[in-house]
Amino acid sequence: MNPFQNAQKQLKTAATILNLDSDVLEILKKPKRILQASIPVKMDDGSLKVFEGYRVQYNDARGPFKGGIRFHPQVNLAEVKALAFWMAVKCATVGIPMGGGKGGVIVKPQVLSTGELERLSRGYINAFVNFIGPKVDIPAPDVYTTPQIMAWMMDEYSKIKGKNTPGVITGKPLNVGGSLGRDTATAQGGFYVLDELVKKLKLNPKNTKVIIQGFGNAGSNMADIMFHAGYKIIGYSDSKTAILDIKGKGFDSHTIEKIKKKKGYVDICDCHKIKCSCKDHKHMTNEQLLQQKCDILVLAALENVVTQNNAGKLKTKIIVELANGPTTPEADVKLYKKGIHVLPDVLANAGGVTVSYFEWVQNLQNNYWTKKEVFTKLQKIMIESFNSVWELSQKHKVDLRTASFLLAVDRIADAIKQRGI
Ligand code: GLU
Repeated sequence: MNPFQNAQKQLKTAATILNLDSDVLEILKKPKRILQASIPVKMDDGSLKVFEGYRVQYNDARGPFKGGIRFHPQVNLAEVKALAFWMAVKCATVGIPMGGGKGGVIVKPQVLSTGELERLSRGYINAFVNFIGPKVDIPAPDVYTTPQIMAWMMDEYSKIKGKNTPGVITGKPLNVGGSLGRDTATAQGGFYVLDELVKKLKLNPKNTKVIIQGFGNAGSNMADIMFHAGYKIIGYSDSKTAILDIKGKGFDSHTIEKIKKKKGYVDICDCHKIKCSCKDHKHMTNEQLLQQKCDILVLAALENVVTQNNAGKLKTKIIVELANGPTTPEADVKLYKKGIHVLPDVLANAGGVTVSYFEWVQNLQNNYWTKKEVFTKLQKIMIESFNSVWELSQKHKVDLRTASFLLAVDRIADAIKQRGI
């Protein structure tokens, strides 16, 4: 099943429990607008390459469309549609006044030069300039898109419009209207909700073993926050490598970060070399890592990693979804039966878009907050949202994802009805 089919299934489950108005359901089954563009880019060698780009504007009943832009070779329309829908659900779950949208470009950004990447980023804005704006649709970073890319995009939009418009995009560097705390917000928000669950389950961080799949922005920051909170990180991975600690010492997030900076990937010992330097750690596949015994499994890579094929084999108590859509609906059923608590993407990674919303508010007011203000506000939103979701899950005897959808879909449905269909 593709991610959009998964998203539809999740919607249907919530709609049935909510006894959702059939007109609202029809509206929510499809995005409001799908945009697709060919983006020509002059390459450094003088040749021209045309990239395929998307922007899906799913629902704006609760506020302007909001969601990141992904640069990845596997981007496709079904994926962008699902991600745009999940953004609408995410914003509604945490109660920020934004709708849902998402963008993507089919590209392997690692093989582009800085100049090519800049031209592609500017080209993306050129293609969709008439459909975005601070009160219309506000993009942000996602997989393989960085603050620098956001700066180019904001600059391009501002140039075309002839006025400085920082509020058109979030996740910008600090000097061009970014918000303090945005860089670590996804992980920080995930940590706040995890902390609530850990307290409910009476786990002690010191005795709690963690495996982290994915070491991009969300995964690496989560590793750092959890390491400093005293959790034991016993395994981690990126797209190239997966490593398990076999001596029970746990990994230090700073060491992994240092290696990543040096090598470009997170392998702390080089076993592809003839003589393996690895004594305390074991290399394995990403799939094997997921199935190792731990207490908390953080999913911070891509979608569809926990499926009906491996859900039964997971040996964890908690799953934290910092990635979007890592667990399929079939897997959710199995995990719930096994008593594994899944902190779903639409709640667990909502810290990113929440601080994006703060950034947008600051841009519109041209008034900037301290990091403490940002995180105090973020913490309050994340804890309140967790508690609302938890209560709904207890009341309806459903998993935390279904509970988030109940909360969010109800809020979106209200907005649709109050505005008038
Ligand atoms: N790409 C992030 C997400 O999936 C952030 C979106 C945003 O900040 O608008 O939630």
